[in-house]
Amino acid sequence: MTALNTDINQTVEPQEEKINLLGLSAEKLVEFFASLGEKPFRATQVLKWIHQLGVDDFEQMTNLSKALRERLKIVAEIRAPEVVSQHDSADGTRKWLIRVAGGSCIETVFIPEKDRGTLCVSSQVGCSLDCSFCATGKQGFNRDLTAAEIIGQVWIAAKSFDSLTVGADRVVSNVVMMGMGEPLLNFDNVVDAMSLMLHDCAYGLSKRRVTLSTSGVVPAIDRLGEVSDVSLAISLHAPNDELRNELVPINRKYPIAMLLDSARRYLEKMPDTHRKITVEYTLIDHVNDRDEHAKQLAKLLKDLPCKINLIPFNPFAQSDYKKVTNTALNRFRDILYKEGHIVTVRTTRGDDIAAACGQLAGTVNDKTRRSERYQNQVVESPVRFVG
Ligand code: SF4
Repeated sequence: MTALNTDINQTVEPQEEKINLLGLSAEKLVEFFASLGEKPFRATQVLKWIHQLGVDDFEQMTNLSKALRERLKIVAEIRAPEVVSQHDSADGTRKWLIRVAGGSCIETVFIPEKDRGTLCVSSQVGCSLDCSFCATGKQGFNRDLTAAEIIGQVWIAAKSFDSLTVGADRVVSNVVMMGMGEPLLNFDNVVDAMSLMLHDCAYGLSKRRVTLSTSGVVPAIDRLGEVSDVSLAISLHAPNDELRNELVPINRKYPIAMLLDSARRYLEKMPDTHRKITVEYTLIDHVNDRDEHAKQLAKLLKDLPCKINLIPFNPFAQSDYKKVTNTALNRFRDILYKEGHIVTVRTTRGDDIAAACGQLAGTVNDKTRRSERYQNQVVESPVRFVG
């Protein structure tokens, strides 16, 4: 893990680099103002200017003294990553290509629904985990995003809808950490960014409306339970270790039983006893979509308070996997229903702008050379089907 440190003392000090206030949690902003000899309420004022009013110019912060505004201009900045392009799908889905420091690009997607607007946020440039069905995984890995680059995606999206103000009619009502990257491998920056999503003086989202999705970094799930109570989703995608080892390679390190135990521990730490884990299961034709897989899954999750989200696989260029058929999808869902599970099926959205689940790829300056390897593989040999 190469988390970038947003600690004030480490980022203000070096060589005239300005500290970016966009990514500072409320606590770090209080520390920052204390280092300037200012009272904690300055942090509250600035949090509201940035995250509720979308202001990135200290001059407009009229409830700060002129002297403080001048000082801030010298030592600090409010800098969101750069929007390269914005695409709107016919179904209302909006996708941004966002350039981050170092030149790579990440993707962020907004999905409007009847009763909510969900923003799918990226946490890393690429991903090191290489799940076999995932477009991001094929891009390789470059680096962790900073807290400013993570919360900056929410800031950009809310601003684009002119909807930063906390209130019932805001457009971005839910955030899912399900974009590019494994959020728990960028723990500190993700936790700081999520704390801003939840903070009343920032985005004020309820903990039920912020979801972190992990492929199963078990020790970090336990750590998350110590510092946060956002909703947790686990990317399961297979009902047994043999198949999951192929689809989600981190399973070789943290097998299913360990993962489900950590999910249970996470729930036990929640004060609200009605919380449930979301279990994500991407259905791939002739890979993990058979009746026996559904039966195994139903049994596996029997004692876990959860809802199962079935996601039809979205094909992309570097993969030979195919989308599940409607017949197989319905059979799979019905088997789970019959066994008493709560099941939802994710409707594919934004596939005309390659914004559907698993399709996010951005442009990653790949340090792993994995992207190169996959390009060659696609030419040389067909993808091996498992299960
Ligand atoms: S599914 Fe998630 S964890 Fe797996 S490679 Fe893709 S982004 Fe990484």
